[in-house]
Amino acid sequence: MSLPRFTKSFTRAEPVPEAGVEAALAVLRSGRLHRYDVDEGEEGEAQALEREFAAWQGARFALALASGGQAMQVAMRAAGVRPGEAVLTNAWTLSAVPSAVVAAGARPVLVETTADLVIDMDDLEAKARATGARWLLLSHMRGHLCDMDALVDRCGALGVAVVEDCAHTLGARWGGRRSGSWGLAACFSTQGYKHLSSGEGGLLVTDDEGLMARATILSGSYALHPRHGAGPPEEAFGEALLSEPNLSARMDHLRAAILRPQLAEVEDRVARWNARHDRVARALARHPRVRLPLRPAPEAFVGSSLQFLLDGAAPHEAEALVAACAARGVSIRWFGATEPRGYTSAHGSWRFVQAQALPRTDRVLAGLFDMRLPLTFTAEDCDLVAAHLAEAVNDVIGRE
Ligand SMILES: *Cc1c(COP(=O)(O)O)cnc(C)c1O
Repeated sequence: MSLPRFTKSFTRAEPVPEAGVEAALAVLRSGRLHRYDVDEGEEGEAQALEREFAAWQGARFALALASGGQAMQVAMRAAGVRPGEAVLTNAWTLSAVPSAVVAAGARPVLVETTADLVIDMDDLEAKARATGARWLLLSHMRGHLCDMDALVDRCGALGVAVVEDCAHTLGARWGGRRSGSWGLAACFSTQGYKHLSSGEGGLLVTDDEGLMARATILSGSYALHPRHGAGPPEEAFGEALLSEPNLSARMDHLRAAILRPQLAEVEDRVARWNARHDRVARALARHPRVRLPLRPAPEAFVGSSLQFLLDGAAPHEAEALVAACAARGVSIRWFGATEPRGYTSAHGSWRFVQAQALPRTDRVLAGLFDMRLPLTFTAEDCDLVAAHLAEAVNDVIGRE
């Protein structure tokens, strides 16, 4: 190996902006950490985050929650998913997504993934018809957006309501329209390595008054829902006040204080992520064995991670590539592994979901690799990572 070993961490996020540190200290000094610890008419950090996020996202209402997973569970329940009901969702996603369906008492029906890493709409339609499912929890996994216009048309015709999982598409757009504005509701995560980070956290947006009223009660608002600046009017609560359980999934002022200054710089982050992504992608695209998923013209994605495919790679080759990269200091994941590794797990290892045959997804995942591109990487870091990757593919798989 002629290249210098890569030594930077693939998981290191940037520091919290100074304004966030200051705001967090102010919360700590006030002693008022709980979101409902505000005076009459006062706007706390959690309320301010909800107001600012709703405005930024272009949604009528926003609710800050304890995690993205809780946002999805709350969204499903608040939308009206009934126990035992079928909920369509992506076969290729993180385990938190089918888990949220299960937590809402429903039954995940997994939909195939295309070679370009988006939901397979023909399989979606076939499974919607076969199961009578009324819901789709659509995961824009790793930031790959399907043709959203076509999806909305298909689901509309099938009577399937869409809830978006935007954990990887905060800041992304399809045809100029923000991801998270296409369905009944959308969920975002502010966990460690996401586009906004408070360690743990989530956000739920919707334009639907009743849904947001139920979500607010579900999040654990006790009878303090009037202290939600970005929530629906009092009249919308009605029977939800007594009918919905309390899942204790609130966000606190401290995390909200950390997030607000990050929201102000998210467009800048998106541009910086995409510069890193495109630099590595351009270099990889020159390798004859590497395939990059198609990114259609209407898609404006956020390149916080990069996916590449080695179609037809054997499992031992995939394992050897991950090991060869690790030896070079380059951390990549393979989605085809049968045992869960870190944040990647294939549908076959979700034992809490009834086993389902997904041959097309399995074929794609067998050759699918993933790499994070943190903002702490410089342009030179990206070039070195790309060069290592190309060399490792040559060593393990070859060029032909
Ligand atoms: C992180 C993530 C989630 C869940 O977010 P948490 O805040 O960790 O619960 C959901 N979907 C995808 C695709 C994610 O990456």
